[in-house]
Amino acid sequence: MARGPAFVEPSKMVRMAVSSMTEAGMAEEAQRVFRLDNEVLAFRFTATVSDRRGATPYERLGDPGRLALWLRSAGLDVGGASLSDLNDALELREAIYRIGKAIATARQPDPEDVRTLNAAAAAGRAVAILDGDVMRWHLTETAPVRDALGVLATDAIRVFGASERDRVKCCEGPECAGLFLDTSRGANRRWCSMNTCGNKAKKSRLTAR
Ligand SMILES: [Zn+2]
Repeated sequence: MARGPAFVEPSKMVRMAVSSMTEAGMAEEAQRVFRLDNEVLAFRFTATVSDRRGATPYERLGDPGRLALWLRSAGLDVGGASLSDLNDALELREAIYRIGKAIATARQPDPEDVRTLNAAAAAGRAVAILDGDVMRWHLTETAPVRDALGVLATDAIRVFGASERDRVKCCEGPECAGLFLDTSRGANRRWCSMNTCGNKAKKSRLTAR
């Protein structure tokens, strides 16, 4: 899979302006840069690569600042991220994707990927907090990205380790192959999202007529 643009500032802590953005500004930027419509948090994370089945998969986490932005959009405000954080995130993300794809196609996941997933979940120290009527994640100050990745890994385990796993599917969009959880009553959903891939399929059916 293509890894996207080369990283400009190796090993340097990139403190993007992500933390200082207003909530509305952050949400708008995240909507512009990412596809955020997947109901499963861990699968939304895997959707930071688009067109996985296409000739040129598109990497949306091209630098550590993008990772920090995505995490903040998921309620995991890490402040900033380093290049090594990004590498950890991409490793976990791809392990989640491969496990999901294996499950969706009735194959055994690679044990190495399962180890990566479990290690990330075990390393996280995030604490869930009830703040009024919303749940928030409290991350440690020492390793907030590790904690955030722990939350994402745990979310994937929650789906992969439950009866819901039978509902894990890969999108049938010609280039997409994104993971989604089919919660439809008839278990007959075909696309990761009706707004994107589902709509595209509908349009191409109409023009083919
Ligand atoms: Zn799709």
